[in-house]
Amino acid sequence: MEQIGHFINGKRVAGKSGRFADIFNPATGEVQAQVALANSDELNEAISIACAAQVEWAATNPQKRARVMMKFVQLLHRDMDKLAEALSREHGKTIPDAKGDVIRGLEVAEFCMGAPHLLKGEFSEGAGPGIDMHSIRQPLGVVAGITPFNFPAMIPMWKFCPALACGNAFILKPSERDPSVPIMLAELMQEAGLPDGLLNVVNGDKEAVDGILDHQDIMAIGFVGSTAIAEYVYSRGCANGKRVQCFGGAKNHMLIMPDADLDQAVDALIGAGYGAAGERCMAVSVAIPVGEDTADRLMEKLTPRVENLKIAPYTAGDDADFGPLVTQDAYNRVKGYIDAGVKEGAKLVVDGRDFSMQGYENGFFIGGCLFDNVTKDMSIYKEEIFGPVLSVVRTQNYEEGLDLAMSHEYGNGVAIFTRDGDTARDFASRINIGMVGVNVPIPVPLAYYTFGGWKRSGFGDLNQHGPDGFRFYTRTKTITSRWPSGIKEGAEFSIPTMN
Ligand code: NAD
Repeated sequence: MEQIGHFINGKRVAGKSGRFADIFNPATGEVQAQVALANSDELNEAISIACAAQVEWAATNPQKRARVMMKFVQLLHRDMDKLAEALSREHGKTIPDAKGDVIRGLEVAEFCMGAPHLLKGEFSEGAGPGIDMHSIRQPLGVVAGITPFNFPAMIPMWKFCPALACGNAFILKPSERDPSVPIMLAELMQEAGLPDGLLNVVNGDKEAVDGILDHQDIMAIGFVGSTAIAEYVYSRGCANGKRVQCFGGAKNHMLIMPDADLDQAVDALIGAGYGAAGERCMAVSVAIPVGEDTADRLMEKLTPRVENLKIAPYTAGDDADFGPLVTQDAYNRVKGYIDAGVKEGAKLVVDGRDFSMQGYENGFFIGGCLFDNVTKDMSIYKEEIFGPVLSVVRTQNYEEGLDLAMSHEYGNGVAIFTRDGDTARDFASRINIGMVGVNVPIPVPLAYYTFGGWKRSGFGDLNQHGPDGFRFYTRTKTITSRWPSGIKEGAEFSIPTMN
């Protein structure tokens, strides 16, 4: 059976710990490979290699670093089909969706070509008598990314592209469920001209994560995953004096106002609720029709669409809507929530629990599910399901819908569908959620804006990618210089001011 190791110092290496995790084919349920789980010796070796490589890289001019990104982007285009196939094979998502996963990462690499401009500091001439002041941005050293299974191409690239463009070395600890693509990306960076030792992929589980959190040479950590682990990584990393940003789980609401174009809203809900089998942190999992009449009209249009979703393995062609869930555990968790929703009194209008694919009976497939009459005390409303399950919560008016979204503990994304500009503007201004869509169901900001949720969807001050990516992976130094040309003031014992 294929064994996937690590990528350290510019090459693939086998794992030495003797510990492995199974990688499943989600469509068949079979174990298709194993991934090595690093021990602390392997991690420490990668970190010391990264430390040594970083010194020269930091001294490389930013244009050269940008050119590596430029070449990397070309290679991603060249290998797009190969990357998408490897991604779908381990994750289960459709090929078009896998390509989107690669492209959303590639766009951040494109943004990082702007490193020479983005790393410019500021300069003030004549800040005082004979005094100039300027600031520079310097890399942190060795930084790390810990990433989830659901975007095995995009999220690693969101982390390592800005970090490397800023002059850091990088340790990537990807998800142990789909580790092939992160290693392929590291190989492409190498081919693009990145020197050895700067991008190391260390596969592993909690042991590797804890090693990263406690290692004195790791200066910053970017984490993406579930909220419980995000909080753990944030508190332990911060306690160890590191710069940490952690992005967690989500429960994204979509308000449908009585004046919305319902056909457009239904299309949006179908794509955003069920795409990637709902395994997206920006998936819409709660629909809030405003008013009973809107709710009835919405359910009438939505129900047949959910009943007719096309579910298939990625190998069946490109016209499937979504594929299987990633693992048996994920399947059991999602099914558990559907059972709980029924028990708690929600109306299961479309039940996907008995869905079975001929020839793939052991795969982790579950059909699309649609709940009506969900209330805010139910677990299917409160918790992230991360499956193809949409909950409809009926509200009587706009304020009630707004309050519902605002009261939820998660604050990743939210959307409103309306034809009224006043309502949309009021919503975008008052909502306490990080990413807002107006007639856009999945408002994932483009690479040159920043991505990040509020409340228990995000921990730390700065967002991912865009200008914040460059801020997170650098620190600012401010230099005050004086060329006195004959000015002699004598010793000054009070704090210097410009009075
Ligand atoms: P996860 O929390 O299980 O795993 C994320 C990472 O943490 C992995 O690398 C994993 O190996 C590691 N990890 C898992 N358990 C650990 C432990 N006990 N101690 C230390 N490290 C541990 O998340 P997942 O299932 O891979 O991904 C799905 C979750 O990620 C969902 O909650 C989803 O909403 C979230 N997500 C959030 C965003 C965002 O930007 N907010 C984006 C994508 C996914």
